[in-house]
Amino acid sequence: MKTSKVLIIGSGPAGYAAAIYSSRAGLSPLMISGIEPGGQLMITTEVENYPGYENPIQGPWLMEQMKKQSEAFGTKIINDYVTDVDFSQFPFVIRTEKEKYLSYSVIIATGAKAKWLGIPGEDKFMGFGVSACATCDGFFFKNKDVVVVGGGNTAAEEALFLSNICKKVTLIHRRDKLRAEKILQNRLFEKKNVEIIWNSQLKEILGNKENKLIEKIVIKNTSDNNENQIMLDGLFVAIGHKPATEIFLKKLEIDEDGYILTKADSTKTSIDGVFAAGDVKDKIFRQAVTAAGMGCMGALEAEKFLSNKKIG
Ligand code: NAP
Repeated sequence: MKTSKVLIIGSGPAGYAAAIYSSRAGLSPLMISGIEPGGQLMITTEVENYPGYENPIQGPWLMEQMKKQSEAFGTKIINDYVTDVDFSQFPFVIRTEKEKYLSYSVIIATGAKAKWLGIPGEDKFMGFGVSACATCDGFFFKNKDVVVVGGGNTAAEEALFLSNICKKVTLIHRRDKLRAEKILQNRLFEKKNVEIIWNSQLKEILGNKENKLIEKIVIKNTSDNNENQIMLDGLFVAIGHKPATEIFLKKLEIDEDGYILTKADSTKTSIDGVFAAGDVKDKIFRQAVTAAGMGCMGALEAEKFLSNKKIG
């Protein structure tokens, strides 16, 4: 059994920022990296919007730098997976597949995952025309034709964002009504370069001759089962995100979409000494830089919590 002052669960930008700040504060944090160390940026190719880099950088490279920086200041990174937590005891109890840990504070940075369609071609063209983040990748499709799939707020916002950059945006939705807020719907309907295809589902994503870049999609009308092909340069899947909060259900306050609830302008959760940062608590911004910012907040708040308790 190991005891730490700060235990960070998750190794995306929020986790690493929390690690850098708390290790620089001399708190010797432990980080449990999770099943997919590095998080969502590990499946991102070019990153152009993380401050500090004039030229595009690769997502996995950025995560490697964050890891090295965390370790350089004394973070101990453990390649393991948290299976259970007990926040009713203090120090808190964190169980992984291999070990049991006690910690006087916990920063949860387990992130969220985009939901994918699970159709042929989706995995193959991910990063080569298929994306789940218009803010991150929209710029690569300047003056091009793109398709957005989904009918919620995210799909509407992504389509609106892309309509300012791309030549044409086609929104494909499986029903005849959008779930997005009325105000977003009205904005979409007013856009001259946005077309909406109703009652349709994607069946397959196909590539160009060399089969390296996305070229077209096959869609099926759910009313008459007719199939059609649409030529495109980029596909944005916006059918929702799933925060990684299964192990925290009934242990922390969580909203109806599964995101951890935190106090206003803070990473404090419903349990004193447990903090949540990044996409696991954020369904609005979902950016590497906002996640990193929240990781920093989590570390500063954990430090204050520990010092009030005269720990460390
Ligand atoms: P969402 O509201 O759950 O919408 C997901 C959309 O994707 C729905 O329209 C759904 O269709 C569709 N969909 C789901 N699975 C699909 C599949 N397999 N194939 C095709 N379509 C599929 O997700 P979200 O838009 O990401 O929003 C999540 C939460 O964050 C919501 O509470 C939302 O209000 C909030 N949010 C807020 C803001 C903001 O306030 N600015 C921005 C973004 C998100 P159906 O409609 O048929 O179910």
